[in-house]
Amino acid sequence: MGVEYALHCAACGYHNPHCCAGVEAGMAVTLSTVYCATCKQLYDVPVLDHGNGFTEIPLRCPRNKAHAVVAWSHPGPCPVCGRPISKLGQSAIWD
Ligand SMILES: [Zn+2]
Ligand SMILES: [Zn+2]
Repeated sequence: MGVEYALHCAACGYHNPHCCAGVEAGMAVTLSTVYCATCKQLYDVPVLDHGNGFTEIPLRCPRNKAHAVVAWSHPGPCPVCGRPISKLGQSAIWD
């Protein structure tokens, strides 16, 4: 089971209601939060497929695989303005 959090930036108003804010392992996959500098967004992307053995999946932007992404975990900078972002607590549990 993985946990999602709500992230909020007080400086610019960026809000992400569902984000792992790091690495969370679920039943079928492990998700990691990544920052895409091109989209200025945080995404949760699968990094480990638990299906047939454990298959590592390279980090990539879900919108365009040509975008460069880096792993992001809380506490980290806001993807829009770069200031520290707040974690508002658990918003959902997934599996
Ligand atoms: Zn992107
Ligand atoms: Zn911000």
